[in-house]
Amino acid sequence: MGRAELRTFVADLEERPYRGDQLFKWLYGRGATSFGEMTDIAQAFRHRLGACAHIGGVRQVSHRLSPADGTTKFLFALADGLNIESVLIPPASAFEDDTPGDDAVTAPRDRLTLCVSTQVGCPLDCAFCATGAMGYLRNLTTGEIVDQLLTVRRLTGRAITNVVFMGMGEPMLNYGAVMQAGEILTEGPGVAARRITVSTAGWVDGIVRMADERRRMKLAVSLHSAVEETRQKLMPVTRRFPLAALQEALRHYYARTKMRVTYEVVFFDGVNDTAREIKRLIAFARAIPCKINVIPYHSIAFTRPEGFAASLRASPRLPELVEELRRANLTVMIRSSAGEDIAAACGQLAAQGEGRKHRRGRLQDMDNTATPQHNDSTGAYANSHLWSPGRGEGDTGKTPR
Ligand code: SF4
Repeated sequence: MGRAELRTFVADLEERPYRGDQLFKWLYGRGATSFGEMTDIAQAFRHRLGACAHIGGVRQVSHRLSPADGTTKFLFALADGLNIESVLIPPASAFEDDTPGDDAVTAPRDRLTLCVSTQVGCPLDCAFCATGAMGYLRNLTTGEIVDQLLTVRRLTGRAITNVVFMGMGEPMLNYGAVMQAGEILTEGPGVAARRITVSTAGWVDGIVRMADERRRMKLAVSLHSAVEETRQKLMPVTRRFPLAALQEALRHYYARTKMRVTYEVVFFDGVNDTAREIKRLIAFARAIPCKINVIPYHSIAFTRPEGFAASLRASPRLPELVEELRRANLTVMIRSSAGEDIAAACGQLAAQGEGRKHRRGRLQDMDNTATPQHNDSTGAYANSHLWSPGRGEGDTGKTPR
């Protein structure tokens, strides 16, 4: 529940609206996990709350700390037994952000970024992604998204300064919950909207909606190629939203928000690292103010033992490609490969296990259906459990998109 819902909730219990504000502060500001902790709320009301409500969330199953770079991956269990993961990324690692003025507020060394999941699995089936290999099970609730941050903050005792919706799932397919979670994270734990990034595979409807609603959270697009047939092979979502539609949506986004977009690019040997590919990428990127994050590839070959996906290899030309983009006057960041030693990219554990046996909801399955609904946990894709709590001490792993 957000602030407005909490006020309505307490009104239904015949309490004054400020009680809703108190609950909001305890839940999201202080991270209370029981009503008993809420000491400035009358005991009688706390008892009433305890009788009619509960504070739910995620439960830690395991975590793994990277000795190499301090990245920590958390595996969480949800109330229905499904599992998701979040990755805590230390300063001077991945997801460096060069937003002007940011350093005045938070120096890079003080930055602590949490990559959170928005769905269990994902229907978009990108060729390079272990989560995509799992298929889609269900959307997360607002509470399950927010509680990833609250739980990591509680477990580590550290303030999280930045959030990226870049874990398991396509955030635009769970738009309502993701936006509400962003609002709660801004108002409760105090993560500034400009430090929250929504990363999409290119779901145009969501981009347009973010623009029209003038959301202040930042937008990242997993691009990888500006050549239609290449992008279609890497990201089947391109069949629904071709590059021209994506570019039009991004122009609209910039016109409405005046916020530059980040493009995520992984270079694959012989696939999108050719001269033609780079030329098209430069032309696409020049359309609106942007920056490009180049991401080293975490191989997920074990999840896709054959076919095109299995053939993907990191391009050995990465340094020269980056130079070429920079010579074209584009802002290019090379993201360090955080957490490679602990398989920090999302979905790797799942794909190693039952995910491979139970391939479920995919984009093509959705072509004749509506976009999955907010908090839809009962739909066709949500019919069984992928992980059981406790499985897989230590690992998942997401290839950053
Ligand atoms: S990269 Fe993102 S959108 Fe693509 S399959 Fe993986 S989680 Fe889904």
